[in-house]
Order: sequence, then structure tokens, then C-alpha cells
Amino acid sequence: MSDIGATRDEDNLREEIAQKLKAGLKTEVFPRAETSAAVNAIIMRLREEAGANVEKKLVIGGFTDHTIEVEDIEQPCETCMYYLVHRKFCELPELMLPVEPEWSCRLWRI
Ligand code: SF4
Repeated sequence: MSDIGATRDEDNLREEIAQKLKAGLKTEVFPRAETSAAVNAIIMRLREEAGANVEKKLVIGGFTDHTIEVEDIEQPCETCMYYLVHRKFCELPELMLPVEPEWSCRLWRI
């Protein structure tokens, strides 16, 4: 597949995810993953329950199409260590999803 084709696929999937979130998909926004034990538990669930299923990734990851603020800290994808700016993509291995900079999930990390 060409790079352009891959980019288009990611754009389409990003749009599909945006629609799901806009339509009110209930995701596990809280509790946020604030300890390494909590991060590991969510990662394990993503591996075991979500696999390649995009909707389950969104639910377990606690995705929102807007930034969540926790204790005065904004947690947008844009500032997360897993965000690839030019590709608008989350490279957390268990997620690997195209995202928008203002979206958020509970695995946000700097
Ligand atoms: S891990 Fe980071 S970049 Fe990936 S969806 Fe969550 S907040 Fe966004």
C-alpha cells in the first residue's frame, strides 16, 4: 500500500471514530490511569478484551473527542508522549489509532 493510501485510510478511520464519539459512545473516561498499576490494568484489558476491535479500544481507553482536565492539568492527545504530531496518530502499541490533537484518553502521559 502506498503512503498516500495509508494516510487516506487513517483519515477515514479518524473520521469514523469522530462520528462514534459524537454519537455518544459511552467510554470509560474515569478513573484516569494515575498509577502504574492502573495503567497496567487498562493495558491488560486492551490486550485481552479489545484486541483489534476499534470500538472496544475507545471504550476501555476512555476516549473523548474533547480534552479532559484533571487537577488543573489538561490531557489532550496533542501533549501526550504517544502522539505523533504530523501523522495525528496515537502510537501506544495497544491503541495504534488515528486521533485528533484535542481528543483525550485515560492513558494520557507526558
Ligand atoms: S495515549 Fe495519548 S495520544 Fe494516545 S489516545 Fe491516549 S491521550 Fe491520545
